[in-house]
Amino acid sequence: MRSFREYPKSAFVDPARMLRLQTQWLRQHLAYCQAASPFYRKFFQKHGIVPRAVTLENLADIPLTDKRCLERSNRDFIAVPQERIADIVLSSGTTGDPTQIVYTQRDLDRLAYNERQSMASCGIVAADRVLLTCTIDRCFVAGLAYYLGAKTIGAACIRNGLNSLESHAGIIKLMAPTVIVGVPSFLRKLGNYVEHKKISVASVKKLVCIGEPLRDKEMKPLAVTRDLEAVWKAKAYSTYSSSEMVTSFCECKSQNGGHLHPELAVAEIVDERGRRVSAGVPGELVVTPLGMEGMPLVRFRTGDISFMLEEPCACGRCSPRLGPILGRKKQMLKVKGTTVYPLAVFSALDALPEVSDYYLTVFAADALSDRLTVTVSLRGPCSLARISEVLTARLRVAPEVVVASEDDVRRVVYNPSLRKPVRFFDRRS
Ligand SMILES: [Zn+2]
Repeated sequence: MRSFREYPKSAFVDPARMLRLQTQWLRQHLAYCQAASPFYRKFFQKHGIVPRAVTLENLADIPLTDKRCLERSNRDFIAVPQERIADIVLSSGTTGDPTQIVYTQRDLDRLAYNERQSMASCGIVAADRVLLTCTIDRCFVAGLAYYLGAKTIGAACIRNGLNSLESHAGIIKLMAPTVIVGVPSFLRKLGNYVEHKKISVASVKKLVCIGEPLRDKEMKPLAVTRDLEAVWKAKAYSTYSSSEMVTSFCECKSQNGGHLHPELAVAEIVDERGRRVSAGVPGELVVTPLGMEGMPLVRFRTGDISFMLEEPCACGRCSPRLGPILGRKKQMLKVKGTTVYPLAVFSALDALPEVSDYYLTVFAADALSDRLTVTVSLRGPCSLARISEVLTARLRVAPEVVVASEDDVRRVVYNPSLRKPVRFFDRRS
């Protein structure tokens, strides 16, 4: 099997040559799936797929694989014997039972290479000290990925993980990290906390942000991004991945979308019928991670809505870039013909300093339209009319706005039985 180490500069290769190379890598990947994955052996036979006849143009003829396939036939996706499995992670399922994703040692090497490429593109070097505020255990892959990437670059890792603000503040004071990896909303909280405690953050130059977007669909920074860069006086770079596709799209120094590593994945943005849409048009991100051994996938639906940027990047890389995640496909809302995602509503509310907390509820207005209700708690005097005006201007739809006490909003958002705060409630069915 081809080693991914052969193509360290593939993001810089001109697009025409890259398409030829990617076609070869794609065919090798499909041939491996056919030979080693019980699921794809049957799937290819059923759909008459011949790996050597597949091109990047006719790739869309291969039906999509989604999370439900992984859940239903989890074991059939495993393409290696037990003795080759080096790590097992869990991915949350659609029905409650988590799905197992297995990696071989070579998959972990690929992951390390991937994160090395990503982190190096935003300027992280061996002399950096990288504070990881994401978990490396609990069967998650994210923390492990950044750890392996930073380690491969030669940087020093500070694995403080999912810890309290106080603990991270102590670490920052003691170890003066130059890079912090974490979730933007948490890093904002941490930034405000260390500022309040008068702890110097002068060492911090870069924030690598995971799990939440940093930019809007015009690629302008969201309120959280402006706050982050102001409080830390550091650059915030967005990165995106998932445990199934184990391929990250990370922004380079130009902060203008996450670069695809062409040797590691074929990425498509598709419409409702699974057909590729043009650059700039939003659709669902579908990824074929190349060279995965343990649990190889073909045309995997991420469920995330984004768009591709194909114009050349100032950094010199020719690879296409992934825009911010605009929302989850199943959370797509339709209001009188206009598409809205909860994330866009949240970003608009985040930009209102008077709003202290909020949640969004969606109801079915009729067969074709949804009705949105935004419940907010307020930090200071603010009229409902102003909130409605800002939301309508940003979203092009007018949700109903309701004011509640901070306690009432927090009771709904922070359910102690759930791992994360929940701000979106779908009451359509
Ligand atoms: Zn770039």
